[in-house]
Amino acid sequence: MNQRPFPAGLSPATLAVRAGRDPESLGGAHVPPIDLSTTYPLRDVLSGGDSYEALATGGVLPDDGSPVYQRLWNPTVARFEESLAVMEETTEAVAFASGMAAVTACVLAAVAEGRPHVVAVRPLYGGTDHLLASGLLGAEVTWAEPDAVAAAVRPDTGLVIVETPANPDLRLVDLAAVKAQCGAAALLVDNTFATPVLQRPARFGADLVLHSATKFIGGHGDAMGGIVACEPRWSSALRRVRAVTGALLHPWAAYLLHRGLQTLPARMRVAQDGAMKLAGRLVEHAAVTVVRYPGLAECDPTGLVGRQLSGPGAVLSFEVAGGHEAAAAVAQRCQLILHAVSLGGVDTLIQHPASLTHRPVAADARPDAALLRLSIGLEDPDDLWADLAAALE
Ligand SMILES: *Cc1c(COP(=O)(O)O)cnc(C)c1O
Repeated sequence: MNQRPFPAGLSPATLAVRAGRDPESLGGAHVPPIDLSTTYPLRDVLSGGDSYEALATGGVLPDDGSPVYQRLWNPTVARFEESLAVMEETTEAVAFASGMAAVTACVLAAVAEGRPHVVAVRPLYGGTDHLLASGLLGAEVTWAEPDAVAAAVRPDTGLVIVETPANPDLRLVDLAAVKAQCGAAALLVDNTFATPVLQRPARFGADLVLHSATKFIGGHGDAMGGIVACEPRWSSALRRVRAVTGALLHPWAAYLLHRGLQTLPARMRVAQDGAMKLAGRLVEHAAVTVVRYPGLAECDPTGLVGRQLSGPGAVLSFEVAGGHEAAAAVAQRCQLILHAVSLGGVDTLIQHPASLTHRPVAADARPDAALLRLSIGLEDPDDLWADLAAALE
């Protein structure tokens, strides 16, 4: 897009701080402005019409063109998109009002292409599971295990959807192995838990890399958004869906998410350190029956950490003895750790997936009633452990 290309080989820590912020494209400013205009004065009918046509059919803002209308194009949103594409090593990225709006746009783009069948690997975020199972978008879903994707793919399969690490049990999926089974269907990877700091799914064949930017990318619990990093074939279909359906990201939110991205690598490092410490202590606690965290050997039997993921991340889940009642009591007894849904922020949150985030999932696929999900923030891990240990008593 607008930014001069970066020299090859820069690390995510560097790119996160710099991408989408080229002072030359910001009129000399250090910090990008927030462009709030909903409409843009047009030079003349002909060039305005050309811009409208280009943007409404999924194109990018033509050189010297007009953004026309905020639903079609917004410079603040475009800067955030550019930065995420750089981080995910794709050509483009398209941002939406929420992670679910992003999932919806991907499904609608496949349906519009005449390929309404979706193969989905569980577990997925409860909202994604719910959307696919509902049939609301005219898509038909087949649920498949990661090694049975090939058998589930049909000529009308538009998307294969996986999450890794998955919400809520942190199950890992070998992306290259799934890609090899996709045939002509596009592979959509929800990369919300790993973030581009730890995993770049496009390297393993993902066609669509999706984030709930509400989580780690924003990182402060104050802005919702979704984003899909992809190549132009898909970005143009997604922009068209966005322009027509209107699930656009607001520029205020785009600004906050773009700012949050700058500290993502540093936040991930600290939060991941905390998660590793807590996972180790939970494993040893008598009241805990299972800990699910990619950093534990038993949760990564094929060695994906180090090969596909550069680190285990900052979310873990665990099961407590005593089932639903015991799990509910632990969530309620935490004092420092907040009992709330969402994840990926600066503060540590605990929640009970079977009651909350994964409540709409079919009973036979719902997370265990004893499972709690913990998103580790930036607090001192010793303080977090003291709170959790007291809640587990
Ligand atoms: C939260 C979440 C979503 C949905 O994103 P919203 O921004 O809440 O709409 C999708 N996928 C995963 C893995 C999530 O955690």
